[in-house]
Amino acid sequence: MPWLAIPFSDLESKKALSRKFDVEGIPCLIILQPDSNEKEEILRDGVELLHRYGVEAFPFTRERLEELEREEKEKHDNQTFANLLSSHDRDYLLGHHPTNGQVPVASLVGKTLGLFFSAQWCLPGMKFTPKLVSIYHKIKQLISERPGVEGFEIVYVSSDRDRASFDSYSSLMPWLALPFGDPKIRALARHFDVQDIPCLIILGPDGKTVTKQGRSLINLYQENAYPFTEARLESLHRQMDEEAKGLPRSELHAGHHHELTLVSDGTGGGPFICCDCDEQGLGWAYLCLECGYEVHTKCVRAAGGNSTVGP
Ligand SMILES: [Zn+2]
Ligand SMILES: [Zn+2]
Repeated sequence: MPWLAIPFSDLESKKALSRKFDVEGIPCLIILQPDSNEKEEILRDGVELLHRYGVEAFPFTRERLEELEREEKEKHDNQTFANLLSSHDRDYLLGHHPTNGQVPVASLVGKTLGLFFSAQWCLPGMKFTPKLVSIYHKIKQLISERPGVEGFEIVYVSSDRDRASFDSYSSLMPWLALPFGDPKIRALARHFDVQDIPCLIILGPDGKTVTKQGRSLINLYQENAYPFTEARLESLHRQMDEEAKGLPRSELHAGHHHELTLVSDGTGGGPFICCDCDEQGLGWAYLCLECGYEVHTKCVRAAGGNSTVGP
């Protein structure tokens, strides 16, 4: 750290500061203004602010933060494929490996676009990728059968640590990619406030954000989620509610030793990670009321009979 420090031996001051600022978790960055001791001028979420705005957050005053919020809202309102994905010296994306041709950003206009934030070192990302590849092909197929429907594309936004990982990981992907290490990658992660990967952000044909929940929507509805619009999701949600009426209230699942109960958003469910396939889930699920074990309704495998009984 290129800055100052309270001596390690001075426990008293450390304790007093933690008490004064109610520090409960670390890392925590408290920011004080030079000209005021007013409590309202104390910012407690410095870490979050730096994550979101970087150096732009300086000098962390209320006015500066309001200005940044206004700018951010404007950026989202004026969002286009060109200002998201092109820079002053690059107006193309990388085509699918190994052809690696250049695909003009302008060719994306009018398509629904997924921005796929992931990295080879990210295990959930590696697990999700083959599933996304298969669904990508199915959506493309769906579109080709229905002329007049707009197109679909995905762009890989890489957090790989070196070019070799980028090359080998992106070779699994039949879609486009931002070049490895491109400055736009960081800018996009900030713009969409991406905190966890893998993350799939869906943009509409006009470049505006449709949803940041692409990953869980793919897990939930597979290719049927396309084009991810509110109207589409509402109709899928209704359909799911309808289907859930036919599901048993409780199930014995081969992968678990307690009985599981059918739950939904309204009855104790909510976003979850499926204990069977390790993927995100939302809406209807089977939940163990005893220990919290939860699976997608599609992931339940009948216990007993000739099936393999899990631990
Ligand atoms: Zn599952
Ligand atoms: Zn249980």
